Amino acid sequence: MITKILSAEFIKGIIGTDDILTNGIPQIAFIGRSNVGKSSVINSLLQRRNLAKSSSTPGKTQQINFFLILLERTVLSSSGKDGPFQKVYFVDLPGYGFAKLSKEKKEKLRKMILWYFTESESNSKKVILIVDAKVGPSAFDIEMSDFLKSLDLDVIIVANKSDKLNQSQRAKNLKSISRLLTQDNVILYSAKTKEGRDELLEKVLN
Ligand code: GDP
Repeated sequence: MITKILSAEFIKGIIGTDDILTNGIPQIAFIGRSNVGKSSVINSLLQRRNLAKSSSTPGKTQQINFFLILLERTVLSSSGKDGPFQKVYFVDLPGYGFAKLSKEKKEKLRKMILWYFTESESNSKKVILIVDAKVGPSAFDIEMSDFLKSLDLDVIIVANKSDKLNQSQRAKNLKSISRLLTQDNVILYSAKTKEGRDELLEKVLN
């Protein structure tokens, strides 16, 4: 199946319950530590320069941002009922683990993320957990990965900034990220060089 992105637009940012969570459009959630390149990954996937705002002040995005993506698929789904056009939301969750935020702010963001996954009744289909390919998973990333696993969500790990790795680090880091997060589904990705874009797009949208 080949998927083409026809359009992508920011719809709204939410901080609590909202009709958008349950309107039936599937949600693909993006999550990661502040400054890991989450905005850059979203922008590179959608081939937009600045749709998801990559803020120069990490930790600034303190709401859950919804982007509506309109897709065209060249092959009809087997049931045929969906038709060639489909809508999904990319859901940009606040970055976590930003050291400079106050303790209260950090706790508030953590609670918002947990709420989205456990209590909001959101129609979350997949989760893209972004980690740093060079630094490897932080304690926060491991905690998040374990949490998502416990919810039985379909998780894809994106090891971003792969352009910073040399040849020998690539296989080594991929293996250790997979082991530390106990997740098999790890993609080496670079928002800068676009390595992994086709693979991730395929996994995210199909
Ligand atoms: P966010 O806070 O997670 O949304 O991160 P941003 O998208 O704002 O990126 C944080 C920093 O990492 C910026 O300086 C980006 O230019 C840089 N960055 C993001 N992706 C990559 C990548 O794939 N490779 C490299 N070398 N730098 C990246």
